Amino acid sequence: MAAFTIVDHEYDVVVVGAGGAGLRATFGMVQQGFKTACITKVFPTRSHTVAAQGGVAASLGNIGEDNWAWHMYDTVKGSDWLGDQDAIEYMCREAVPAIRELEHSGVPFSRTPEGKIYQRPFGGHMRNFGEAPVQRACAAADRTGHAILHTLYQQSLKHKAEFFIEYFSIDLMMDESGCRGVVAIDMATGTIHRFKAHRTVIATGGYGRAYFSCTSAHTCTGDGNAMAARAGLPLQDMEFVQFHPTGVYGAGVLITEGSRGEGGYLTNSAGERFMERYAPTAKDLASRDVVSRSMTMEIREGRGVGPEKDHIFLHLEHLGAEVLHQRLPGITESAKVFAGVDATKQPIPVLPTVHYNMGGIPTNYMGEVIRPEPGNTEAIIPGLMAIGEAACVSVHGANRLGANSLLDLVVFGRAAALRCRDTLKKGETHRPLPKDASDKALSRLDRLRNANGSMTTAQIRKNMQRIMQNDAAVFRTTKTLQDGISKLAQVAGSLKDIKVSDRSLIFNTDLIEALELENLMTCALATIHGAEARHESRGAHAHEDFPNRDDDNWTKHTVAYVDEQWKVKLDYRPVHKYTLTNEVQYIPPKARVY
Ligand SMILES: Cc1cc2nc3c(=O)[nH]c(=O)nc-3n(C[C@H](O)[C@H](O)[C@H](O)COP(=O)(O)OP(=O)(O)OC[C@H]3O[C@@H](n4cnc5c(N)ncnc54)[C@H](O)[C@@H]3O)c2cc1C
Repeated sequence: MAAFTIVDHEYDVVVVGAGGAGLRATFGMVQQGFKTACITKVFPTRSHTVAAQGGVAASLGNIGEDNWAWHMYDTVKGSDWLGDQDAIEYMCREAVPAIRELEHSGVPFSRTPEGKIYQRPFGGHMRNFGEAPVQRACAAADRTGHAILHTLYQQSLKHKAEFFIEYFSIDLMMDESGCRGVVAIDMATGTIHRFKAHRTVIATGGYGRAYFSCTSAHTCTGDGNAMAARAGLPLQDMEFVQFHPTGVYGAGVLITEGSRGEGGYLTNSAGERFMERYAPTAKDLASRDVVSRSMTMEIREGRGVGPEKDHIFLHLEHLGAEVLHQRLPGITESAKVFAGVDATKQPIPVLPTVHYNMGGIPTNYMGEVIRPEPGNTEAIIPGLMAIGEAACVSVHGANRLGANSLLDLVVFGRAAALRCRDTLKKGETHRPLPKDASDKALSRLDRLRNANGSMTTAQIRKNMQRIMQNDAAVFRTTKTLQDGISKLAQVAGSLKDIKVSDRSLIFNTDLIEALELENLMTCALATIHGAEARHESRGAHAHEDFPNRDDDNWTKHTVAYVDEQWKVKLDYRPVHKYTLTNEVQYIPPKARVY
């Protein structure tokens, strides 16, 4: 093995990731007085959270009556009864103080004429247990994520968090006592850094890039999920991948659901507002799985628009230039740049596009990572936490409601800091690391750096993305999933034949992309295996051979273990149907009602 220069660090807490989740946790940790490092592979304000447009949900009731129990009901129902109700209750209750804190920290929210935070309607958010849409999504124009991320970064700096920017985390350091920290490479110099920490918080975001067309950034490669998998930990509910109804046709770039919240609607080739047929009450604001499937049905039945009849139109032109300019300036620009249309005059061509991963590292509502044991399905891994899109708390269950992810980031980022306040002493001494703590990570790095096979990272990645796009899509069948599994096994096998051309250690993006590809493969395998095994349709998982939800057999979380030979083992753990306070509890109706 090459002689790497190794630098050791000691922190109370190390947070991996500087998106909304990582920064909220970092801010919370330093506020509690913990010596905290935040490691990030991109500059913090370039994390994917910056692209979040529409809003962050909280039942503030600034524009019409609202309360947390309605928000909770919508979230449980939106999750198609797979969400953990204790975690959902926690999120919906804590939403209100968490958003107030953001406001007081300086997030420049849009305002109502009286000066309150502006709130817009969003898909699936309803008043009085499903009666009519409610305005619950707090928005900073259509740049909500941008506003939140910048504020949290500034606050973290102000409170003296230590940032390690453009450091790529390779693997966790584990011993029999649990997690001891992470190993990272400083991309600019190639030096290796071992971060010892009493708590390691994974906040590395989603893995949209396992698919060919997605709204997520190129950096969304599931690194934290794969680090957990390589440490022998499970990934939960990975088969639930959300397709956003309105990605720009051809480019995949997102047009926020907030655009339909502001009054936008979809039409087919006959000019028909077809959502009225599929979801008579919620119409264009039905939950994302419903809208994506309805659009796919229209296209399949020959009613798509365009020369190939392969997409759908989104109309905003009736809203008028002034509303678009004031409330949706970013997407008006995206429509022009990526579809060449003037949204004030023409409809935008759109198509369902991979958008969000409901699955991730299983945790409890305090952010602690769970590895089920015989007799204890809630056993935690000491020292390890996960939050944000990398985690599966599970508040989104089988399908996430719009504006609930930014909320998940801030509520559980904050919860992780509160949990550390209650369980960790500041400045506790560190035990020495095991001698071989970083050996596995470094031999993996060296293997890839010297890989001299015949296939480039880009070729293997494209093969994987095509399979996921075609065989684990909006609609799935036993045949597509089984074909997909055997094809993906071959592509995973071809990773042995990967070629990395750059052998240097200075900004070796060739090497970093190879590491990311292995991480994506871990996530892709867990996704497609979990999907093949789940013989029902629920939320985002629409299985054509099993079109109904099967509550008797399948109200359970999938836990997938992916080993380093790319073998996948599946197991299951119960959904929490209990709540924290038992003030409310929701039982699924027999049939889905929209
Ligand atoms: C286009 C778009 C629009 C959206 N709009 C909304 C919305 O309006 N409302 C809503 O609620 N949700 C929205 N979402 C979803 C939401 O934005 C994301 O789920 C959320 O931002 C994820 O945040 P995160 O902090 O978990 O991860 P990210 O923001 O993706 O950040 C991940 C961080 O981890 C770091 N990282 C990753 N791997 C490594 C590694 N190996 N080493 C070191 N660092 C690493 C990265 O550098 C980055 O800082 C949207 C998503 C997209 C893609």
